[in-house]
Amino acid sequence: MKKTALITGVLGQDGAYLAKLLLEKDYTVYGLIRRYTNPNYGNTDYLSVTKKIEFLTGDMTDESSLMNIIKVIQPDEVYNLAAQSFVGASWDLAKQTTETNALGVLYILNAIRYFSPMTKFYQASTSEMFGNTKDNKVITEETPFRPCSPYAISKLYSHWMTNNYRESYGIFACSGILFNHESPIRGIEFVTRKITDGVARIKLNLSKEIVLGNLESRRDWGFAGDYVEAMYLMLQQEKPDNYIICTGKTHSIKQLLDIAFSHVGLKDWGGFIKSDPKFKRPSDLVSLECDCKKSREKLGWQPKTSFEDMIKMMVDADLKRLEAQRNNS
Ligand code: NAP
Repeated sequence: MKKTALITGVLGQDGAYLAKLLLEKDYTVYGLIRRYTNPNYGNTDYLSVTKKIEFLTGDMTDESSLMNIIKVIQPDEVYNLAAQSFVGASWDLAKQTTETNALGVLYILNAIRYFSPMTKFYQASTSEMFGNTKDNKVITEETPFRPCSPYAISKLYSHWMTNNYRESYGIFACSGILFNHESPIRGIEFVTRKITDGVARIKLNLSKEIVLGNLESRRDWGFAGDYVEAMYLMLQQEKPDNYIICTGKTHSIKQLLDIAFSHVGLKDWGGFIKSDPKFKRPSDLVSLECDCKKSREKLGWQPKTSFEDMIKMMVDADLKRLEAQRNNS
């Protein structure tokens, strides 16, 4: 029989890539979307999956809509990807971030507990939960958390709720602690996409500069298309567990700029970059180095796409999009 999956946040970056993956595996894919007059199907259109998804209207802040959807469709798997996912906005939107990212997960877990206890659950946790961990060692699943943003705190609540419902009620619930992952459909406010879009605009003479915050920041950035495979694999194991997903390599914003600018033939990028403290976080993370040995060994997962190839892919996609817009105007 065909398997069924419900993806919350299906119109986001990971939601679109995961929907594509599950459709390729012959799942029936239900996608939870918020009520909008004009929903934005840009990401699912980009991956040519919009027409294959069965969209259902609900909201992470509306408990009854989540209860009702899970009660009616009783999916084999739920992938909870919906979130107010932008760390920078979470200080200004702390309450909304908490309601969506923390309480929303409690609502889904309760819906599974009461109406569909055989449903397997994936929670989109984040490396931001480690925050400025005092532990100087390479991060693993055992590293203590020390979140330093309202976003990370909301995610830590849902991470622990996922663990707790697994232990208390025997729900097959997994938490994927994912480091940053990007793609051509990454939200435009995230620094990788801001840079690849900015570089494409400069190349096409549509802009003269990119305004950034801390150029020294380092992150472990992987490709979203690779990371959704890990989400799927977690729910195919015999037992539920938590896994870190990362590449194990960090890069700085400066290295990102080197790759993106030289890809369009502009080697000397200093004159195109402006710094504005407004783009620095009230509390920024130290560089997080991690190891996903457990995922490699237990899930058989490893990243396939290099950082350099991913940034070039993103610049190419932004150039293509902007050129098409210019030709149509
Ligand atoms: P994204 O592109 O921002 O997508 C998030 C989705 O959540 C959007 O489609 C959004 O819907 C939806 N959403 C927000 N509030 C909602 C609500 N109240 N009810 C229903 N849907 C709501 O994020 P992403 O990059 O795909 O990330 C997926 C998940 O992984 C998120 O939970 C994120 O926090 C987590 N994560 C991401 C990364 C990363 O580097 N990308 C790393 C670790 C963890 P609209 O389209 O209506 O706005």
